[in-house]
Amino acid sequence: MNRLSFPFAQIIQEIIDKPADMTQYANKQMARVRDILQNMPPYNCPSSCNFCCHGSILMSYVEYISILATLTEKLSATELEDLLTKRLGILEEQGKLLCPFLEEERSLKHCTLYNERPLICRVFGTTASPCTEDIENPHFPEASFYEAYNLLYYVEDGSFIGLPLTETQALYEAPFDVWTIADSGRVDELLALFLEHGSMRSVICDVVENRFFSILPGGKRLYLDSLDSSEMYP
Ligand code: SF4
Repeated sequence: MNRLSFPFAQIIQEIIDKPADMTQYANKQMARVRDILQNMPPYNCPSSCNFCCHGSILMSYVEYISILATLTEKLSATELEDLLTKRLGILEEQGKLLCPFLEEERSLKHCTLYNERPLICRVFGTTASPCTEDIENPHFPEASFYEAYNLLYYVEDGSFIGLPLTETQALYEAPFDVWTIADSGRVDELLALFLEHGSMRSVICDVVENRFFSILPGGKRLYLDSLDSSEMYP
């Protein structure tokens, strides 16, 4: 099994020490999203399917904070350390991380965090994020999706919620594992991992050019505004 070379257990203290108002804000936004989605159409997915739980699952910083708060509340210090050391940084293939919340016994119960899962996991298999398998994707109103998305990614003045990486770059959207590294402040180590593995689908904003990009292994930028959706994440 390939793993990111990063000492996740060493950053627990840095990442769990959050101002209470930050966690309250993240939990409030997640609750508002759950309200928006409460009447969404039922899935037609086979119960044991976890097809959409692979390939670096992206989330906002707000979702990351809210999930982290849940983990901190529900897990003992040892369990949290276990999760970080055993489940974070697992590469399914070059440039793609395994979701740390995908149950190892996948056919029995696929998500260990189902009630707290990110927005993208809630709309997979609907028209907002259609499944390519042979199932019917229930209609999900685009306006509701963007209402939820905006609550998680933007503040009222239109600025996005992210983490600065350098003077000109900020992390906008990332898998949980990548958020933990950025959140710990170990930016040089994160940028070295991006050079080696690519950004693992994470999206970074060049705040000078106001352009969003991912990084390919070796460091080449892949600007999202220059791609069509089929080639967005190789
Ligand atoms: S959070 Fe849960 S539903 Fe989402 S990708 Fe991970 S295991 Fe799947």
